Amino acid sequence: MLIEPVEVLLDVDFARANLLDIAVKVPLQRVETKALTAAGIELLVRRDDLIDPVLSGNKFYKLFFNLQAAQVQGFTRVLSFGGAYSNHLHALAAAGKRYGFSTLGVVRGERPAHLSPTLSDAEAWGMTLIFIGRTEYRNKTEQALIADLKTRYGEFYLIPEGGANLAGAHGVLLLGQALEQQLKGDYTAVCIACGTGTSLAGLAAGIDAGKPALGFSVLKGEGGLGRDVNAIYNLLCTEQAPNWRLISGFHCGGYGKKHPDYLAQFWRDFERESCIPLDPVYTVKMFFGLNALVRQGYWPRGSRIVAIHSGGLQGRRGFKGGF
Ligand SMILES: *Cc1c(COP(=O)(O)O)cnc(C)c1O
Repeated sequence: MLIEPVEVLLDVDFARANLLDIAVKVPLQRVETKALTAAGIELLVRRDDLIDPVLSGNKFYKLFFNLQAAQVQGFTRVLSFGGAYSNHLHALAAAGKRYGFSTLGVVRGERPAHLSPTLSDAEAWGMTLIFIGRTEYRNKTEQALIADLKTRYGEFYLIPEGGANLAGAHGVLLLGQALEQQLKGDYTAVCIACGTGTSLAGLAAGIDAGKPALGFSVLKGEGGLGRDVNAIYNLLCTEQAPNWRLISGFHCGGYGKKHPDYLAQFWRDFERESCIPLDPVYTVKMFFGLNALVRQGYWPRGSRIVAIHSGGLQGRRGFKGGF
């Protein structure tokens, strides 16, 4: 089945756009692999990677209400943080160019001789990159750093690294509501890759309370991830027993690390069988984990599993088995 990019955003008046209207247009693609067929599992991939060529995936949802808030509050400048391959900074820079914000991207470390493809795009789209040496970063409290940045660059609307705040989660909540509308409750569980866990919290809050949302963590030492998901989830839905769960055995070495051979192999096989491109940091690990659960018989035969393709495809560039 060939699926065309949705590209619903290109002609959208962002300030007046209704996120739910956009989210219900995202297609669900049925994927068949040998392992799925053998286990009697139906897999639907929600192609949120197709929303737009440069502003897509969960980063689009996490930016949406943040940028609306910035606009309503009269900010013309937005600042955030990220690493050299950050999908978040890449999406923010694209949004800034398209919707007329100036953007500031704070990157930890020295400016390298050659920028990553991610950061060169961001800079080409007008983002001011601010490299902060690791010692400087370490020696400052966050507040002192922000105050310092304001003196140097003027007032800005601040989005935390990864879009990890309530407005960010609220965007993904609408993704969950859209999914519920599309499938009318006819599914077993929904899966998403987790970094900060903001998207998992929003997704779980958006779907029906009786349906489980599974978050596949890509972090090795996930420390306070469960606590972070819980905190945001509780702000979004106060009277609901938690319907989310973290799955932590599939980080495959950790965030952005070199792929072990078994993961590289899985990546190739999955893309060949499904014709769906995956990103190297997040979605490949979610599908790897999902596939392992399917083989273990985690879900009964006849289950219908939804996987969110959270995008990140720009990160394929510059990835040669590792960053
Ligand atoms: C950032 C990102 C995630 C993780 O989202 P969180 O809300 O931080 O958990 C998942 N998938 C992709 C492709 C991402 O870029």
